[in-house]
Amino acid sequence: MTQTALVTGASRGIGRAIAVALAGEGFDVACFARDRDKLQETATLIESAGSKPSVHVGDMSSDDDLENLVNEVVAQHGSIDVLVNNAGITEGAPASKISPARFREVLEVNLIAPYVLSRCVQPVMKEHGGGVIINISSVYASQGVANNSPYCTSKAGLEGLTRALAREWIKDGIRVLGVAPGFVRTDMVANAFGGTEVEKLVVSRIPMKRFGEAEEIGRFVAFLATAKAGFVTGETLVIDGGQRSLV
Ligand code: NAD
Repeated sequence: MTQTALVTGASRGIGRAIAVALAGEGFDVACFARDRDKLQETATLIESAGSKPSVHVGDMSSDDDLENLVNEVVAQHGSIDVLVNNAGITEGAPASKISPARFREVLEVNLIAPYVLSRCVQPVMKEHGGGVIINISSVYASQGVANNSPYCTSKAGLEGLTRALAREWIKDGIRVLGVAPGFVRTDMVANAFGGTEVEKLVVSRIPMKRFGEAEEIGRFVAFLATAKAGFVTGETLVIDGGQRSLV
């Protein structure tokens, strides 16, 4: 029977690339984000790869939207075998200038929502004999960087959540792991640097002297979702052109 993957933030960037790569591995893919038209574009790519897509519109910071999402996906596909918690936001400002409300907002989308969604999906996976949850972190989880404190905090928390849930849910046949990209050419990075001198400086400090491509992250995540990576759990794996360990 065809397996189903649910990808959050699948309307563009890394999430779209993950959704398409999972379709290439034979998964049907449920796509969640806020922009229906962009999600529809991802759905068309999934169909072209020979898999069945579905589109689900909602907000990561709404517990109700996430609960409805899981109910909708199970109703349409029959199961959720893979969950990729990819949707994320960033906030490039000094810690002293960020409002506590904005700090909480970043934690809500990047950390609390993956927890809420994982706990909604866990009983479904358990009932079907197991599954895989993949949390998209960042090298910023383990690197101290200035002017991005809520993002760094949220991703460090996400890696802690990954280890904790992996240990707790192994008995249900659920693997929980993470992927921590370095810089990847998406809207998130374009909005942060957008062809400026800072971008040249950032690229010059990456040992491979380039940003990653979303498709490179997509293929890595899709591999980890399959039984080929069946002995991997609890870890967050870095994919960054050498940024973290070789600089
Ligand atoms: P992006 O900004 O291009 O896309 C983010 C996606 O998340 C979009 O689909 C957006 O609609 C969705 N999203 C954001 N807030 C949402 C909300 N409240 N409700 C529903 N959907 C929401 O970002 P990206 O570069 O593709 O990043 C994807 C993931 O990869 C994020 O978790 C990000 O932190 C992580 N990451 C990105 C990079 C990079 O260099 N681009 C590096 C490391 C980690």
